[in-house]
Amino acid sequence: MKYSINLDDAEFINLVNLSLGLYKPLKGFNSKKEVENIISHKKIDKKKQWTVPILLNAKKKINLLNKEYFLIYKKNKVGIIKVKSLFKIDKKKFCKKIFNTNSINHPTVRHIYNSSNNYVCGDITVFKNYFKDDKNFGYNIYRFNNKIFSNSAVFTTRNICHLGHEHIHKKIIKSNKKLLVCIIQSEKNKFDPDLVIKSYKQLKNKKKIYKNIQIIKIYLPLLMAGPKEAFLQAVYLNNLNCKYFVVGRDHAGFNDNYRKYESQKIFNKLNSLKIKIIKTNEPLLCKNCKTVYFSNTEKCRCKLNLNRLISSIDGKFIKKLLLQNNFAKVSKFLSSEVVSFCLENIKQIQKFKG
Ligand SMILES: [Zn+2]
Repeated sequence: MKYSINLDDAEFINLVNLSLGLYKPLKGFNSKKEVENIISHKKIDKKKQWTVPILLNAKKKINLLNKEYFLIYKKNKVGIIKVKSLFKIDKKKFCKKIFNTNSINHPTVRHIYNSSNNYVCGDITVFKNYFKDDKNFGYNIYRFNNKIFSNSAVFTTRNICHLGHEHIHKKIIKSNKKLLVCIIQSEKNKFDPDLVIKSYKQLKNKKKIYKNIQIIKIYLPLLMAGPKEAFLQAVYLNNLNCKYFVVGRDHAGFNDNYRKYESQKIFNKLNSLKIKIIKTNEPLLCKNCKTVYFSNTEKCRCKLNLNRLISSIDGKFIKKLLLQNNFAKVSKFLSSEVVSFCLENIKQIQKFKG
C-alpha cells in the first residue's frame, strides 16, 4: 500500500475516539448522505440523533482505484481506511447550519473554507489506543473501573477554575452528586491541559468542598459549535456511562454566535441519550458585596441588584488578564487558592498564548 492520507490533529483525535467507541453509534467518518442528514435533520440515519459531522479531509483529490489508504499522523502510520467514496460538501450551507455563521472570524469555519473540498468515508482500522499512556485519560480509567462515571456529574472544561465555575461546582456537590471534572484536550488549548489538571488537584487538596472530586482528561476537537458541540460531548460521556452532564449558558460557544442557553435547549429536542443534563444559569459577580450568584434564580447578599454593580465572569477576559500579569484585576474572579496557583505557575500560563 503506497497511498496515504495525512491527518491533522483534530482528525487524529476523532479517529482515536471512533476506534474506542466513544462516538457510538458512529463507527467511522461520516459519508455524504450522513452529512446531509445531520445538517438537515440532526440525525445520522432515520433514527440516530447526531449534530456535528465527523469529517475526514483527503487534503487532495485521491484516486479511488487504490482503495486502501494508510492514515498518517505526524509521519507515523496510525491506521488504514478502505475508502468507499470521495465527496464534496456545500461549505456555505454546512457552516451556516453547524456554526450558525459563514464568517471566517470563526476558527472552525475558517479552517473548513481553507481546506480542500475532498472528503472521504470508509471502513477504518486503527493500530492501537494512542492515548494509552495517559493515566488521566477517562477511557483508560473506565477500562479498569467501569463504575467510575455511573454516579458522577461531569463538568467539562479547558480552563483554569474561576468563581463562576466554583459556584456551579458547589451547587452540584451540595445536591449530593459526585463531581467529576473533565479537562478537554484539543488540537489547540488556551491553557496547557496538564496545568489545568494540576490546578484542580491543588483545589482538591486545599479546599474542603473539593476533597472528593475526581479529575480526568478526555480528547475532543475544539469546534466552537455551541449547542451541537454540547450534544457531541454528551454522546461521548454517555458512551462512558456517565450519569449527569453539566451544560452552562454558553457551552462551547464563540463570541455571541449562539443565543444564551441555546446549548441547553437543544437537549429538549434531542433526548435519546441516557445521560441526564444539569442546566446551570449564568453565574454573576456583585462588585459591591463580592458574592457570586446565578442570574434569575438567586440574589446576591446586598440585594442592590444594580446593573453597574453586576459583572459576568468571563473565562476569556480572565485569561487575558492573566497573560497581562494583571493580578490586581483578575483576583476578584478567582478564589485565593487559584490565585496562588496562578502566581506559582505564571510562567507556564504565559507560555500558552494559544
Ligand atoms: Zn451584592
